[in-house]
Amino acid sequence: MSDQKLDLVLKGARVIDPANSLNGVLDVGILNGKIARVEADILAEDAGHVIDVTGLLVTPGLIDIHIHAYFTRQLGEGLFSASLNPDAHFPASGVTTCVDTGTAGYKEIAHFRETVMEKAKTRVLAYVNISAPGMGAPEQDIRTFDTDGASGAAKEHADVVVGIKTAHYWTSLPFDDLHPAWESVEKSVEAGNKCDMPVMVDFWPRPPVRSYSELILEKLRPGDIHTHVYARQFPVVDDDGNVEPYMFKARERGIWFDLGHGAASFWYRNGARAIANGFGPDSISTDLHMGNIIGPVFSMQDTMSKCMAMGMSLEDVIYRSTVTPAQAIHRPELGTLSIGAEADVAVLDLQKGLFPLQDCGYTRIDAQERLKCRLTLRAGKIIYDRDARTVPKWEDARPEYWPVTLVPQGVPRLWNT
Ligand SMILES: [Zn+2]
Repeated sequence: MSDQKLDLVLKGARVIDPANSLNGVLDVGILNGKIARVEADILAEDAGHVIDVTGLLVTPGLIDIHIHAYFTRQLGEGLFSASLNPDAHFPASGVTTCVDTGTAGYKEIAHFRETVMEKAKTRVLAYVNISAPGMGAPEQDIRTFDTDGASGAAKEHADVVVGIKTAHYWTSLPFDDLHPAWESVEKSVEAGNKCDMPVMVDFWPRPPVRSYSELILEKLRPGDIHTHVYARQFPVVDDDGNVEPYMFKARERGIWFDLGHGAASFWYRNGARAIANGFGPDSISTDLHMGNIIGPVFSMQDTMSKCMAMGMSLEDVIYRSTVTPAQAIHRPELGTLSIGAEADVAVLDLQKGLFPLQDCGYTRIDAQERLKCRLTLRAGKIIYDRDARTVPKWEDARPEYWPVTLVPQGVPRLWNT
């Protein structure tokens, strides 16, 4: 235990930190932006500031490995609407790390980094699109696939790039010399080999030329990620609702299955059946962008709540929104409340009631529980406080309260403003 006074203590919540097998009422002490103590009953006098979070859940900051946060130029023919400003949404969902999946190609990574990543309070990482101009150009044009460019950018920006992405390689086009069935997947894997990083694939099967089982059993490497696993187009379960044997075989090989909700890529009819039969997602993610943030995705918390409604436990849902996404992007230092870890923390409310939640197949599930974020910290600083827990009542504040602190060395130091 350090003798130094803590900056902040989150007091009285149920801490669920799957990375450390913690699940119980504990206090979390933060010092210099890092987790300093996680233990029962930290004394109030040990900390400069105490935030009472009794009755709530404290978890590591959530990690969403499929989102879009780069403001690219005119996109295709308007099929994709614009990306998000990450700070406008992710802190409000307890998401402290998000991964943009291929909105930018290698020519745009430096600009993405400068204009978004370095300015955002949310930690923003990225997969580089195998198509050089990213989602700003038709991603089915094989002339834009550049393995040296993508892998080169990944290596040059290895502190913020976590892999290679391919998406929207249209199947409405005929497979021919100009549109070979496996070109986007093969080129992505080639780039992944060159930079030694995983590949994330958004895919549309068209058997027999291009089957899903071939993708996950032969084309992808262990550690590569198939996102949108419960989308309508993937034969994950058979007509009787049983999980196809190749799914388990692929998982045994080390293929990673990400939820990637999206505007059109998550069906309860696949997901609920798969989960009921032992095939849950390896990681939970939203694919959040302007085309689905007002529904049906809404947020990471809604997506997690849907997973609970499909039968996953609260602990498992938090595990797959913290620990496993950190593994998928090879950042095991994230998604944990380990002592010394950067203090990225989500404070969530597990609400009970009736919460109908919609998928992309125009169906709903009647959830009995729903997660809502109340407070978010990024590197020990408050970036979201929905209930004004961290400030005094106005009657108690001195006239010069802002920017002078009411509590000595207190409130503003806690805020990431
Ligand atoms: Zn996406």
